[in-house]
Amino acid sequence: MRLYNTLTKKVEEFVPYNKDMVKMFICGPTVYHYAHIGNLRTYISEDILEKGLRYLGYNVKRCMNITDVGHLTGDSDTGEDKLMTAAKKEKKSVLDIAKFYTDAFFKDLDRLNIKRPEIVSPATENISFYIKMISKLLDEGIAYEAGGNIYFDTSKYPKYYELSGRSKDDLLLAVRDDVDVDHNKRNSFDFGLWFTNSKFKDQELKWDSPFGYGYPGWHIECSAIAIQNLGEHLDIHCGGVDNIFPHHTNEIAQSESYLGHKWCNYWVHMEFLNDKTGKMSKSKGDSKDLNSLIEKGYDPIVYRYFCLQSHYRKVLVYSLESLDMATNAYNKLKGRIKNIKDNLDGEIDYDKIEEYQNKFKEAFENDMNTSMMLTTLYDVIKSDLNNNTKLYLIKDFDSVLSLSLLDEDKISKELEDFVLRKIEERNKAKEEKNYALADSIRDELLSKNIVIKDTREGTTFEVRK
Ligand code: AMP
Ligand code: ZN
Repeated sequence: MRLYNTLTKKVEEFVPYNKDMVKMFICGPTVYHYAHIGNLRTYISEDILEKGLRYLGYNVKRCMNITDVGHLTGDSDTGEDKLMTAAKKEKKSVLDIAKFYTDAFFKDLDRLNIKRPEIVSPATENISFYIKMISKLLDEGIAYEAGGNIYFDTSKYPKYYELSGRSKDDLLLAVRDDVDVDHNKRNSFDFGLWFTNSKFKDQELKWDSPFGYGYPGWHIECSAIAIQNLGEHLDIHCGGVDNIFPHHTNEIAQSESYLGHKWCNYWVHMEFLNDKTGKMSKSKGDSKDLNSLIEKGYDPIVYRYFCLQSHYRKVLVYSLESLDMATNAYNKLKGRIKNIKDNLDGEIDYDKIEEYQNKFKEAFENDMNTSMMLTTLYDVIKSDLNNNTKLYLIKDFDSVLSLSLLDEDKISKELEDFVLRKIEERNKAKEEKNYALADSIRDELLSKNIVIKDTREGTTFEVRK
């Protein structure tokens, strides 16, 4: 397996620390809002990474945090706690907000066939471990107290700029708008480990600690949760590219200072999903969540298919037109697979199976080239293999791709509700003799491969193959 490692800026051979078990940590969601489809692109790639490694024969233990406290609106300790702001806006408690959006996030994962990480741990349930880490960093003079808060002293960690690959001055210039002018800090990139005296009022969740009544910084959560659950040596740490600095840079600094040795060998970062106007972000307020796609009649699995068509290290630009194209391609693919299933013939050819499985593995091993993995699937379908052999391979590949390729051709409940709603609107338009509207509704459904038929019993529909 060859993977691009942000730490070395190279595609490298992947060798786990312990050959029997790959330890993988992914940064989880900050649960103050629905995840946007950009976040979900990252979780889809991480899901493929785990499943692909399993396909290669590795055991994988994957752990994810849920950030329910401490993530401020600016990544460098600026602004208010994102959850607190949402709680005020929605007039709920922080824990209610966290529960609601954590559940919504899991629902999104299910709808996208993303396997839940084996270990999921909310930030608020690990306070004692943050205290243990911070105490050690203080004892060793790597952290310091100033103005009621505890900060990590970045000058004590010589490799601080290694992950971002940028010099201090260059970074200062790049993140100028996000750098906090916190006069407690000795160096500009020092970051908060524990706050008893934040710059905003009303932090709802606080805990007793040897450093005073307060709450943890965001970065310490991931380090502590990863070390506690996966041990002192991590193989792969993932996240979106926005996490490289400061979040992952800070995670490395505090984890390695705490452990006294190298912590994680491979840092894998997923590029952004952009829309035509640029980066999608929850805080910009213009983000698209999965519900908004479903309401427009798109199947979540089509979104997964759309993501797999591109490489995780390339920016992917999303538009409804590109989703329409993905819908078409996905429905055609399912149609061809149905045809194979309906016409099974021949003995399974195990030599050929191995040949195609190797091609599929090679695509994955090539820095997780999902579009090449899809190409291998299409190669199988187009090949002159008998249908029993094809079906075997399709099922096998779908254990990684997770595109519901063999699910019966029933459409999702959400899509069915959407179609029924549209049929009702069309019938009403026809009653009102608004034929232009009725036709446009029919065309809209057609663009999603839904063909409607007016019969004596009423309007019926089917998915076009
Ligand atoms: P958050 O909930 O904001 O902490 O982000 C969850 C995950 O989504 C992190 O790994 C982010 O790096 C990633 N992420 C944020 N925005 C995008 C985007 N537009 N495209 C892809 N991944 C993103
Ligand atoms: Zn994290």
